Amino acid sequence: MTDLGVSTPANDGDAIAIDGGCASGSTLRDAAERAGKSEILARYAADYPKGPHDQPQSMCPAFGSLRVGLRMRRTATILSGSACCVYGLTFTSHFYGARRSVGYVPFNSESLVTGKLFEDIRDAVHEMADPALYDTIVVTNLCVPTASGVPLQLLPDQIDGVRIIGIDVPGFGIPTHAEAKDVLAGAMLAYARKEVEAGPVAAPKTRADRPTITLLGEMFPVDPIGIGQMLEPLGLAVGPNVPTREWRELYSALDCAAVAAIHPFYTASVREFEAAGRTVLPSAPVGRDGTAAWLDAVGAACGITQAQVDAAKNKFLPAIGAALANAPIKGRITVSGYEGSELLVARLLIESGATVPYVGTACPRTKWSDPDREWLEARGCTVQYRASLENDLAAVDAFQPDLAIGTTPVVQHAKAKAIPALYFTNLISARPLMGVAGAGSLATVVNAALGNQHRFDRMRDFFEGVGSGDTAGIWEDTPRLRPEFKAKMAGKRIAAAKAEEAIGA
Ligand code: SF4
Repeated sequence: MTDLGVSTPANDGDAIAIDGGCASGSTLRDAAERAGKSEILARYAADYPKGPHDQPQSMCPAFGSLRVGLRMRRTATILSGSACCVYGLTFTSHFYGARRSVGYVPFNSESLVTGKLFEDIRDAVHEMADPALYDTIVVTNLCVPTASGVPLQLLPDQIDGVRIIGIDVPGFGIPTHAEAKDVLAGAMLAYARKEVEAGPVAAPKTRADRPTITLLGEMFPVDPIGIGQMLEPLGLAVGPNVPTREWRELYSALDCAAVAAIHPFYTASVREFEAAGRTVLPSAPVGRDGTAAWLDAVGAACGITQAQVDAAKNKFLPAIGAALANAPIKGRITVSGYEGSELLVARLLIESGATVPYVGTACPRTKWSDPDREWLEARGCTVQYRASLENDLAAVDAFQPDLAIGTTPVVQHAKAKAIPALYFTNLISARPLMGVAGAGSLATVVNAALGNQHRFDRMRDFFEGVGSGDTAGIWEDTPRLRPEFKAKMAGKRIAAAKAEEAIGA
């Protein structure tokens, strides 16, 4: 998250001080409600329920929707927000390999108050809408324009055949970047569904000769292939992966036999699939138990005979069992992350032989992960939805695992305690999890990390006695803590912030 330092009047003429966007969610939310965004905020509150963790503790949520748009072919992206937020978001998107420019419509207090910002956005969209280059332009309101009520819904639906999609993705309305992916995927599905209802749409590049299962959630590229192999004996094929990589895949995604909610937080997307009359299936084909239950669920949803389902199970379950047995994992592991696949990873670890006492996910509880939660709880695992960083750190302290899988600060915390740790997003998410390919895939990286304990012990012994926090380091005299100085400085900072607020008002 970047730290905003702007004082911006709302467009209803009320002057509001916004002294740090990420950190002043309630101020911004109140302003957004007054500025006409109460309906969308109510929908977000229902789709992405909060608590106990309501405030982004990782990256800016808008990164999720930005990434979805940037990965889609012939799609242009325009951000409307404070320059520091846009800088942070574009930096992160390029860090993660985006090869496209991100459009930006800057503003100042005057253009925000007078409505000129909306006109500037509309002009930018008209200028950019070249059907030779783009199928779609996605415009995203970040925190301050959302709080100021910039009405993206008034943009034209399309310009010369280029679809225009405006979304509000404020940090004070969308708790995680995972759910922001759903905001854009859901908006695109809604648009595509209306197009389908209105008449013929573009045919897919390749059409499966069997009914398909749409996969919901970003996953490792091998996973859809493995899932396709398991669907084949059922007379089914794997359909598109939502979020899709091009617009016409949205039509194929809607035109499926059923939808697999592999990642369980795509509430807005599920709403569109259900409106199109599709059945949505929970959980995913991970490990032996998960794959067996998932194939049963697919069979029941698609009217496949039990004999066919059993034939598929007889073909794949022994292979999954053998792969798990050939790559055992021994040790106590805590898992935490914000991708939405944390429960699936924990299932796989347990089926590989590990003990997993705790899984924390920044995502909310939905019925699409209920089978995974029930399976984990039956094996003594505590599942914490909307886990805060404090929850995850407390789990590492309480369970003293042999390995902690988690977000960057969790990994740092574990390593400081000489506990081997793996970063969930880069090292665990970037592997197959499903079916036979997923069965043994975690063992290599997990066992290598578990085998590193002796290195952590050596490092701990080496650094033993150098202190921690304010007194860390090698000193001639042990530093004296001066809490009274800290309190004095904190008082000065608060007074300065209040003075700035008063000027803004
Ligand atoms: S858009 Fe909102 S949540 Fe994102 S960096 Fe800016 S203030 Fe923070």
